[in-house]
Amino acid sequence: MEIQKQIKELLSTLPENVSLVAVSKTKPNEDLEAAYEAGQRIFGENKIQEMTQKWESLPKDIEWHMIGHVQTNKVKYMAPYVALIHGVDRYKLLKEINKQAAKNKRVIDCLLQMHIAQEDTKFGFNRAELEAVILDLKTNPLPNIRITGLMGMATFTNNEDQIRSEFKSLKNTSDWLQNHLQDAKTVSIGMSGDYKIAIEEGSTMIRVGSKIFGSRNY
Ligand SMILES: *Cc1c(COP(=O)(O)O)cnc(C)c1O
Repeated sequence: MEIQKQIKELLSTLPENVSLVAVSKTKPNEDLEAAYEAGQRIFGENKIQEMTQKWESLPKDIEWHMIGHVQTNKVKYMAPYVALIHGVDRYKLLKEINKQAAKNKRVIDCLLQMHIAQEDTKFGFNRAELEAVILDLKTNPLPNIRITGLMGMATFTNNEDQIRSEFKSLKNTSDWLQNHLQDAKTVSIGMSGDYKIAIEEGSTMIRVGSKIFGSRNY
């Protein structure tokens, strides 16, 4: 019941242009089914094997988003069904996604992950690297991928000003990107602790886990 209440509450407060990814990593199918009953159709996972098992056993109108770091050799397992890959942080990965998407006669939507946090443990491109990739794609198009926007994670801190300025920098890059790629409208920022700030700073897609499903036991 608690899960359904959280979903309904979140959905009723989100601006119309912001979509909700329910981050269900580590959670059992029953929890996803509860969210599904409340109307939730987009789920985010960060482990390929877990996501594939859930895809196999849950309703087929669910959109599965890969939100974690993706190893190149794992792309083939999600290529048949994944709806959006959030964490694309290197050109080599884009090429592999393109190859596996072609094998499945699909075009796979991807977000490029930007490094906006101070911690150096978080993956992602800096602005110059992003510009280089976009330039490269103009000369060497990858027809089976579609870049639909950017994703980022703010520093894990209580300092709201810092979180806000990191989100602002990603939004700024997103504005630049949209001048080069019309499809790249998605701004995937905001998690349980910072989604309100993210929405104020231009998020169009929030990824919320613990607020919906409770804390995770790893
Ligand atoms: C786990 C995770 C989330 C959700 O985090 P919560 O704080 O539980 O909302 C969002 N994005 C990514 C990339 C994650 O790995």
